[in-house]
Amino acid sequence: MAPAACLLCPLAYWSWLATICAIPSLLLPPLLSMFVHPLMHSPYVISSQRKDLLGVLLRTKYIRRVIRHHWLHHKYPTYNFNLLLLGDFLLGTHLEPSESDIEEMRDSGIPLD
Ligand SMILES: [Zn+2]
Repeated sequence: MAPAACLLCPLAYWSWLATICAIPSLLLPPLLSMFVHPLMHSPYVISSQRKDLLGVLLRTKYIRRVIRHHWLHHKYPTYNFNLLLLGDFLLGTHLEPSESDIEEMRDSGIPLD
């Protein structure tokens, strides 16, 4: 009888919902770091041609923006730490590229669209 009473409690639903939402947000940063980060350091022309899920992911507008964001991190190491774009906005460490940065990205084959 006690477990059924717990299921009727709104807080019980909230804790399950919070748990379900927390799992992807906890797993996403290490997964991006393990699987997407190495591909950010290989030529985009080659890595974006992959036929697997990572290739599909690399061709998304979000990841192309993350690649530019991460390229700036390696040029300016005190900015753009996160592979999740919102993180640097929240931490105040976000940096937009200058015109010369954009030129360097273009010369390096970084996707600019
Ligand atoms: Zn890197």
